[in-house]
Amino acid sequence: MHIEVDSHTHTIASGHAYSTLAENIQAAAARGIKLLAITDHGPQMPGAPHFWYFMNMRVIPRILHGVGILRGIEANIVNIKGELDIDAAIEEQLDIVLGSLHEPIITPTTKNQHTEAVIQAMASGRIDVFAHGGNPAFPIDVDEVAKTAAHYNVLVEINNSSFTTSRKGSMKNCAALATAVARHNGYLTFGSDAHIAEKVGGFEECIKFIRTVGVEESRVLSQRGATFLDFLKSKNKKTDLSEFATLF
Ligand SMILES: [Zn+2]
Ligand SMILES: [Zn+2]
Repeated sequence: MHIEVDSHTHTIASGHAYSTLAENIQAAAARGIKLLAITDHGPQMPGAPHFWYFMNMRVIPRILHGVGILRGIEANIVNIKGELDIDAAIEEQLDIVLGSLHEPIITPTTKNQHTEAVIQAMASGRIDVFAHGGNPAFPIDVDEVAKTAAHYNVLVEINNSSFTTSRKGSMKNCAALATAVARHNGYLTFGSDAHIAEKVGGFEECIKFIRTVGVEESRVLSQRGATFLDFLKSKNKKTDLSEFATLF
């Protein structure tokens, strides 16, 4: 199983990641990644990049070393209403928005409230991917979330780092979430959540995971760059995604 898209990566701009954009792109090229999403943390995360970092992403060439560079963000879901820590001005500059629950931003409460926050974020139409949903710190109703994701055309991320360095104990929740997504005819995406170049495009654990839980590989939309691009186009982005046409 070869994955052409990494939909979740961090650069040194996130404040607690360790490689530059150039290093991440080199690593992606070496791994055969066709589309690399740069998704540094949204403004409320301590140490996150300044507003202008996201506003100026258009200076990054669309394609470098044969890798298409998606301008993105890992936005924070900040409350039960599913609001994000970014505004329309930033969103208009971006190709992809991930939405995540992070403990420094939103204090874990109840399963019902976490579920409500995620559902509202999906319903707002502002997120393309719900990231690391198996986090045991934020239990959710996987069936409700998977059903909502399929309805609003939001991808559910399977996060490689959740099986290695982060969010210990995610496996069981991820399995329940992934099977619920398949049951509701939704789609998954794989994110390395790399905080250092060596991890960019690394999906060994995600691939093992998908085979173990028995979810069909065709549910992983990020397998093919062209399919992933069509998905983003279907979200009516303000950015010009036709600039990647020469890649596929
Ligand atoms: Zn995160
Ligand atoms: Zn992340």
